[in-house]
Amino acid sequence: MRITVVGSGYVGLVAGACFAEIGHDVILVDNDFAKLAELKNGCVPIHENSLPELITTHSGTRLSFTDDLPAAVSASKAIFIAVGTPPTEDGNADLSYVEQVACGIAGAIDEYKVIVEKSTVPVYTNEWVRRVMVLNGAPHELFDVASNPEFLREGTAVRDFLFPDRIVIGADSPRAQKVLQEIYFPLTSGRYYESPTARLRSVNGKASPQLIATSAKSAELIKHASNAFLAMKISFVNAVANVCEHVGADIEQVVQGIGSDSRIGKRFLRPGIGYGGSCFPKDISAFQAVAAESGYDFRLLEEVRNINESQRKGFLRKVRRALWNLKGKRLAVLGLAFKGGTDDIRESPAINIVQSLLREGCTIAAYDPAAMERAKAVLRGTIRFAEDAYDAAHSADALLILTDWEQFTELNLDRLKKELRFPVIIDGRNLYSPDNMAKAGFVYSSIGRPDAFPMTLTHGLLRTAASFYGSGVDAVEYAS
Ligand code: NAD
Repeated sequence: MRITVVGSGYVGLVAGACFAEIGHDVILVDNDFAKLAELKNGCVPIHENSLPELITTHSGTRLSFTDDLPAAVSASKAIFIAVGTPPTEDGNADLSYVEQVACGIAGAIDEYKVIVEKSTVPVYTNEWVRRVMVLNGAPHELFDVASNPEFLREGTAVRDFLFPDRIVIGADSPRAQKVLQEIYFPLTSGRYYESPTARLRSVNGKASPQLIATSAKSAELIKHASNAFLAMKISFVNAVANVCEHVGADIEQVVQGIGSDSRIGKRFLRPGIGYGGSCFPKDISAFQAVAAESGYDFRLLEEVRNINESQRKGFLRKVRRALWNLKGKRLAVLGLAFKGGTDDIRESPAINIVQSLLREGCTIAAYDPAAMERAKAVLRGTIRFAEDAYDAAHSADALLILTDWEQFTELNLDRLKKELRFPVIIDGRNLYSPDNMAKAGFVYSSIGRPDAFPMTLTHGLLRTAASFYGSGVDAVEYAS
C-alpha cells in the first residue's frame, strides 16, 4: 500500500522505515529541510539500532522523503501523523502541529483516505482532526480519522515496531479498520517473520502480535493509560527503594521477590534517578489534564510525578553525602541521554542533575556514547565533553552513573580507579553490585541498597564514611 508518514522524528522515521520493510511504499514528509537533506543524502539524523540498515536498504525504492505534503497525500491511501505533541505550560498536549498537518492534508483529499494519528494525543483528538479537515475543505465522506498509537521504545524502536506485543487500531468505521488491518497484515499474519528477506529475526521466537481493534477514543486512551501505568511502576519501585534505604534492605532483592509474581512482572521495576524522555513526563501531564477536563481528579498521577522529581533530589543528596561541599568538586558523569541506547536528551534526568551540580559549583566532565552532540546544544561551554568514560574520570573526585548504557556495565574498574582522584562512585542506575564494587576498592553508593566501602579504608575512616553516608551499621565492609 502507498502510505504517507508526516513527521520524520523518532517515531515517524522508524514507522516509515518499518512500513517499507514489511512491504509498503512509503513517503516520509517533514518540514525540517535540514533533516530532509540529511535523509536524502543517506544520513540518519537519530541514533537508533537497525534504523540505518533499513533506511539504506529501502531509500529510493520503497522509501522516499519530501516536504510536499499535498503530493504525498494525493498519492497515498493512508496518512499517518507522527509529529510532536510537546507539553504546554499548563501540562496539556500542544496539538498545534497536529492541527497544522490536518489542515495541510485537508486540501489534498481527492479520493477515500484514512488519516491515522500515530502521535500520542489526548482523547477526542480524532474528532478535532475530523472537524478541522472538514472546515478546511475535505469532503467528509472521503476520509476517516483513526488512531494507531505507537508503543516503541527509543533504543529498541525498530525491533519494538516489527515485533510488538500488540497493535492497537482504533477506528469508528469498518472501512478504516480494514485499511489498517491490511497495513499490519504482514505482521499479524506472521508473513513478514517467515519472509527470507526480512532483515530482523525474532530473538525469542515471539509469535505474531495480537491485533486489538477498538474505537478511536479507546485507542487514544490506551496510549495515555499505558504510559501512565509504566511511569507508575517506575515511581512505585523508586518509592520502595527509598523505604529500603531507610531500613537497610536491598531493592534488587525486593524487586526479584515482587517481580517474580506473574501478576506483577519484573519489567519497569528498575530503581534509579527516575524516568525522563519525550514521552512519560508529557504524557502523564496530558493524561492528568484530560482527566481533569472530563471531571476526574487523577491524583495518583500527581504522586507518580512527585516521586519521580524527588528521585533526582535524593540523588543530589547522595552526591553531597559522598563529597560534603560540592563547590569546586570535580565530577565525572557517565550518561547524558534520558536512557541507554538513544541520543535523545529531552527531559533527561541526567541533564537535569548535571545542571543542578553546575549550579552548586561543581566542575564536570561527561561522556555519553551517543548523546554528546545533542547535549552540546544545552551544555556547551559549561562542562567538558570527554572522549570516553576513563577520560571523564581523570582526576575526578567522584564518578556518577546517570544513564543505563549497556557499555557502562562493562567498565574496566582497575583503570577507572587509577583515573579517579578518589575511588568514589555514585550509581543512579544500579549497574553494579555493591559487593563487587567494594571488592574492587570503591566507595559505592546506589539506589535502594546499602552503601559499600572497601576495607582498604582504615577502620576509623570507614566508620566515619559509613555514618557520613547515613548508612550506619548497614554499610557493607569488604576485604579488597
Ligand atoms: P520528534 O520531535 O522526534 O519528531 C517530530 C517530527 O515532526 C520532526 O521531524 C518535525 O520536524 C516534524 N514536524 C513537525 N511539524 C511538522 C509539519 N507541520 N509537517 C511536517 N513535519 C513536521 O517527535 P517524536 O519523538 O517522533 O514523537 C512524535 C509523536 O510520537 C509524539 O506525539 C510522541 O509523544 C509520540 N511517541 C513518541 C515516542 C518516542 O519514543 N519518541 C514513542 C511513542 C510515541
